[in-house]
Amino acid sequence: MAEAQLIDGRAIAAALRRQVAAAVAELQARHGVVPGLAAVLVGDDPASAVYVRSKARACAAAGIASFEHRLAADTPPAALLDLIAGLNADDRVDGILVQLPLPPAIEARAVIAAIDPAKDVDGFHPVNVGRLWSGVPGLVPCTPRGVMLLLRSVRADLAGAAAVVLGRSQIVGRPVAALLLAADCTVTIAHSKTCDLAAVCRAADIVVAAVGRPAMVKAAWIKPGALVIDVGINRIAAEDGGTRLVGDVDFAAAREVAGAITPVPGGVGPMTIACLLANTVAAAARRRRLSDPLQPSD
Ligand code: NDP
Repeated sequence: MAEAQLIDGRAIAAALRRQVAAAVAELQARHGVVPGLAAVLVGDDPASAVYVRSKARACAAAGIASFEHRLAADTPPAALLDLIAGLNADDRVDGILVQLPLPPAIEARAVIAAIDPAKDVDGFHPVNVGRLWSGVPGLVPCTPRGVMLLLRSVRADLAGAAAVVLGRSQIVGRPVAALLLAADCTVTIAHSKTCDLAAVCRAADIVVAAVGRPAMVKAAWIKPGALVIDVGINRIAAEDGGTRLVGDVDFAAAREVAGAITPVPGGVGPMTIACLLANTVAAAARRRRLSDPLQPSD
């Protein structure tokens, strides 16, 4: 069998970022609207600081205004909630992003619930989760939105496909499953208690792996010709004594069996920030009762 088609997340994300920049320019020219994204970082986790910086850079490149709020790790929860209330009321801010994880003393659920659902560009607010599962337009979590764009880049119509999602987290597995269901797939959600995962995967036309275990999904688990999206990001020891990133799928072997597959890095990873920008455009448009230039049918 021929080697699987490689799904190039870097190229697809770059194309989406160009579309976002064009949509931002159109919103500004036609309606005088400059979309704005506020990022809130609590504490000094270095990885979180890197993410927030790269999100600000991506906003600047797309013409989106960005506002950064850095708070000390020992910030009282009430002060964080006050900040969110201020951002909810600030008309320059269309999207509010609270970088997770939060320090242990702050309950993430309460903070997310305090964000105006119309500005919840991460799509984690219970109102947006409810909309997603009800099939009503809302803000969809970024990584799952990226997963669907990657799948659609190789197969526009997913109706009728048997899809297995490995992982049931709030930020990846569950929303991916909801989106696949909305695309008329027959969806199985697998997790750490699933029996005979290999057989469950082998029955699938689409496998989305979001587990966080290096190379757990073996080539023998993949149905020949299946579409494989690897969300996992795992840092492992490399042969040269350093480290390298691998996904949840045994990529080299699975590539011999799958019909199309994403690499790690260069697959789902680049889609997440591109979709955050797209969500900010959606929020900016919908808050003003304009149609989303990137999804005019919604
Ligand atoms: P979580 O740890 O929140 O969830 C992992 C899920 O995998 C859980 O549902 C767990 O099951 C399931 N699981 C764990 N072990 C097994 C197993 N042996 N067999 C079957 N299922 C198992 O992770 P996230 O969803 O946050 O992230 C998953 C991966 O995706 C990580 O590698 C993360 O780094 C990556 N990621 C990548 C992003 C990107 O931009 N590309 C964005 C977000 C995450 P159970 O519920 O039973 O415990």
